[in-house]
Parts: sequence; structure tokens; C-alpha cells
Amino acid sequence: MSRLARATIHLDALRHNMAMARAAASDGRTMAVLKANAYGHGLLPVAHALSDLTDAFAVSCLEEALPLREAGLEQRIVLLEGFFDADEIGVFAARRLDAVIHLPWQIEALAAAAPSQPIDCWLKVDTGMGRLGFSPDEADAAVEGLRALPAVGELRWMTHLARADEPDASATATQVETLEQALATDAVSDDQTSIANSAGTLHWPMARAGWIRPGIMLYGASPFADAAIHDRLQPAMTLEARLVSVKTLPAGHGVGYGARFVCPEAMPVGVVSMGYGDGYPRHAPDGTPVVVNGRRTALIGKVSMDMLAVDLRPVPDARVGDPVVLWGADPLATEVAGYCGTISYELFCRLTPRVQRVYR
Ligand code: PLP
Repeated sequence: MSRLARATIHLDALRHNMAMARAAASDGRTMAVLKANAYGHGLLPVAHALSDLTDAFAVSCLEEALPLREAGLEQRIVLLEGFFDADEIGVFAARRLDAVIHLPWQIEALAAAAPSQPIDCWLKVDTGMGRLGFSPDEADAAVEGLRALPAVGELRWMTHLARADEPDASATATQVETLEQALATDAVSDDQTSIANSAGTLHWPMARAGWIRPGIMLYGASPFADAAIHDRLQPAMTLEARLVSVKTLPAGHGVGYGARFVCPEAMPVGVVSMGYGDGYPRHAPDGTPVVVNGRRTALIGKVSMDMLAVDLRPVPDARVGDPVVLWGADPLATEVAGYCGTISYELFCRLTPRVQRVYR
């Protein structure tokens, strides 16, 4: 029996979630967000699984974009932070990559460049995120500057929602209105804008115009703290391990480093082949849900590099070798993330290469 630390990626679930996003897009234009190794799910297998269902892919940098082109994927590929250095402009042109333009130096660099073909650009407007983008007041001048350049091909607009995962609509409505006002002086059709992330796609019709940019929902996790809000999403990853030890510890015995958990009675304790060396969060508290042999129980004691311990009292017949699900359909990654004070995004992205990815 080998050690098991496996993430099974369910391709049908990815496709189901992509189709859900597509159905929500009012103009039917989608940009599947594949950054950070497709949120830990595997860049190329995910891209291939979605390629006939999406108009474009979005990634963070050239290191993520080039493998898509090399694999023969022909869609539009948008680099969400544009180029980081003027030297990259030639590659954008040669590989037909779209650049998000968010700072004046990028316009200057395009003005000084003579790429082999014009580069399609997305002007990023900061409508409230306070991260990347021109302020609404600067947008007109930036558009004018870009339109004048032979290095620039088609020009579109993008903004990013900061608070679309909150129940209150007002912050999102303000961002959408701010973009509309910034666009008012420029004749653009909806096809030329992009606003919605997953939360916008799932919840806010006002943000669904133009190109939607769903990320986390494609992987079957809800962007909302209350995962139940969107229970039609299908979790695309099942993270599994197995019991490598089962024994009964006496009352008062500690479990793991620092004896954070102390057995309140004689009890069966299982050791699972999953630790922070696999990317499972080290700060997961006692009580974080896990499923052993199809039955729910809880993590106990501090997570080690290669192992974690579980309370087997709810699963008295558990044996060495039995399967353990850390997240998937049950428990949901969103629920585990809630226990750990983080979000499902981070859980997925932190999985290390030691976790074998299997595609079904
Ligand atoms: N658009 C941009 C610019 C992003 O940075 C992200 C992710 O962080 C997304 C879209 C997708 O967001 P989500 O995963 O919440 O759908």
C-alpha cells in the first residue's frame, strides 16, 4: 500500500460549472480564469476540458499563458496584469496575447514598441477595488493615448469587483455605475467590457454585461461565505488520503505536537496521510470536518508535515487503508476553509506537487 494524497479532478463537474457561468452571461461571452495552475486544479487539463465552452482564458502572467498556446489552444488569452516589463511586448504580439493595461508606463512602453502585430488591450479602470487600474478620471486620457498607437489592436474595458461576495448590493452597484460613467464619453458596446467575477456572475445581473470572468465557481466552490447559496455548483476536486494508523489512546493522552488535543476518554484515533507538506492548512483547528469511510468526523491535534489525526469515535469500524476525504462534495472546501479562517481559493492554490492529480 503506497501513501495516498490525491486530488481527483472531475472534468464533468468543471464543464457543468462552466456551462452554468455561460448561461448567466448576458452577452454569452466568457473568460475562464485559469491563473495559479487553474486554482490548483492543473492548467492544461482544465483548459482542455473547458476549451469548447469558453471564448477566452484569463491568466496572470506569461508563464501561465505560453503553455496554453504551446498546447494548441487558440482562444483569446488575457493576461490580467498585462506585461510586467517592456521586453515582454514582443511575446504578446507573437503569441497573440491580450494585455490588461493599468499604468501609464505600459502605454509609454507600447508607444515605444514596434511589435510584429498589434496587441489587443483591455484598459483597466479602478472603480473601487483600490488595486490595479486607472482612476475613472484618468480613463479618457488613457483610452485616447492607447487608440493613437499602432501597437494597439482592439481596445476593451475591464474593472474588478471588490465586494460582490457580500449580501449588500450597494458597493457592486456603485462600481458598475462608475464604469458606465467612465465609458459614457467613449462609444462602446457591451461586448467591449468585462466586469463580473464568480460572485457577479452568480448573483448580480447588473454586472453580467460583456465578458464575464468566472474563476472559483468553475472549480465548484461558492465565492460566498454561505456555500449553500449556490448549491448547483459541482465541486470539481475531491482531496483524498487514507488511514495509515488506527489505535486506541487512553484518557488524558495527547495527540500530535504540543498535545493540542487531549483525549477526554479512551478513544480510537486515526492518522491520515495528509499534512501541510501536501498543502493542507497547518492551522486547521480541532473540529475541522473530514469524512472517513463515508462518515463525518473531525480533525484533532495539530497538523504535521505528512500526517494529521482524526477522531474515530464516530467510525468505530475504521481500519488502516480506509479512505479519507479532506474536501470534495462532503465536506465542501468552503466549509473547511471557514474552519481555517481562509477561503477555498487559498486551500486549492496551496496544494503542493506531492498531491497526485487524477483526472476523471
Ligand atoms: N478577474 C480578476 C481580475 C481576478 O483577479 C480574478 C480572481 O482573483 C477573477 C476575475 C476571478 O475571480 P473569482 O475566482 O472570484 O471568480
